[in-house]
Amino acid sequence: MSRVVVVGAGIAGLAAAWDLAQAGADVTVLESERRPGGMIVTEHRDGFVVEGGPDGFLAAEPEVPALAAELGIADRLVAQQARGSSLWTGKGFEPLEEGRAAALLGIETRGASLTAGFRSFADGMVEPVVALAERLVNSLRFTQGVTGIAPVGSGRAGWRVAVTGGSAHEADGVVLALPAYAAGRWLEQIGVADARALAEVVYAPSVTVSLAYRADQIGRPLEGTGFVVGAHHAAPPLRACTYASLKYAGRAPDGHVLLRAFLAPADGDPGQLAHAELAAILGIRGAPLWSRAFHWMRGLPRYREHHAVHVAAVRERLRRLAPVAICGAGYDGAGVSACVRSGRAAGKEMLGRLTG
Ligand SMILES: Cc1cc2nc3c(=O)[nH]c(=O)nc-3n(C[C@H](O)[C@H](O)[C@H](O)COP(=O)(O)OP(=O)(O)OC[C@H]3O[C@@H](n4cnc5c(N)ncnc54)[C@H](O)[C@@H]3O)c2cc1C
Repeated sequence: MSRVVVVGAGIAGLAAAWDLAQAGADVTVLESERRPGGMIVTEHRDGFVVEGGPDGFLAAEPEVPALAAELGIADRLVAQQARGSSLWTGKGFEPLEEGRAAALLGIETRGASLTAGFRSFADGMVEPVVALAERLVNSLRFTQGVTGIAPVGSGRAGWRVAVTGGSAHEADGVVLALPAYAAGRWLEQIGVADARALAEVVYAPSVTVSLAYRADQIGRPLEGTGFVVGAHHAAPPLRACTYASLKYAGRAPDGHVLLRAFLAPADGDPGQLAHAELAAILGIRGAPLWSRAFHWMRGLPRYREHHAVHVAAVRERLRRLAPVAICGAGYDGAGVSACVRSGRAAGKEMLGRLTG
């Protein structure tokens, strides 16, 4: 039985590990944090469903529903219920074309159809993560920060994966499902030309703040899924707001509203900063019942010019080494669907290398 180490238990690493485990490989997933999911984090509080990272995936893309069906959670998928978003002009709202909100926020959709909107899960985006983690429970190792990889034996025999604290795992194959800046650095150290370009993929910082209100606190009718603040209509540090409890059903108890603000990194308490801006724009009376901020020091990746060419060149070089694959948001698209696709492709490629 081949031993494979997957580094990173974000959705890409979990998807890769799932395919490898199903094919009978002896899989170990090393994750530096205490929980799986990476950027996917859902919390439940007082009947609210609070998303820290993604709140959905593109409905036009098949990867997440296909995975959900395999995991027996297809009945947990929910459709977006509100549609359309607005631009805050500083004085009022103007309707935005479908897809423009994502573009204004710098979210790359790679030509994917946005007209079908988004989908999510009844209990939040963590549902497929939980389902995968349950099935991979014997493979998952938390608080195992990997510090690098090195070839063992003749160089094509396998890998030694070093973990903080001095321990190491030996494996026939390694899937690197962690951000490009970490994987790129390690690959550079083992002599992979072009890996520097991966190490330089920039992950933009952002802060998301979820705020809970009673519905009677909101002075202005909420329409659509939310709004984006246009570049010339400064409401710093507010960039956008999602009306989370309108976008999907079940995000807030009856009579309540859940808003999610996207902020640029700024000094001060994110909850207070977000509330102050939203109160002015949406006519909110009184303080939020509570707020919860998630800080993404390195959030969504922004690819440089020729990114796909660099990734292809690195993958070509990796084929000359002992089995090693790269996957995740840093390479093949930042959306959750793209990460599932990328993880599963890496799992299949690894199986091919190990058996071929
Ligand atoms: C605020 C925000 C909103 C978003 N909204 C959406 C959305 O609505 N729809 C959508 O489709 N996408 C959205 N995204 C993007 C999407 O969530 C991510 O691109 C995707 O989840 C990344 O998955 P991944 O597995 O590639 O990486 P990650 O989730 O980053 O997983 C990498 C894992 O590797 C671990 N790791 C890192 N270093 C090490 C190490 N040295 N050793 C061991 N483990 C390590 C990390 O702890 C992490 O668990 C959003 C992202 C953010 C931040």
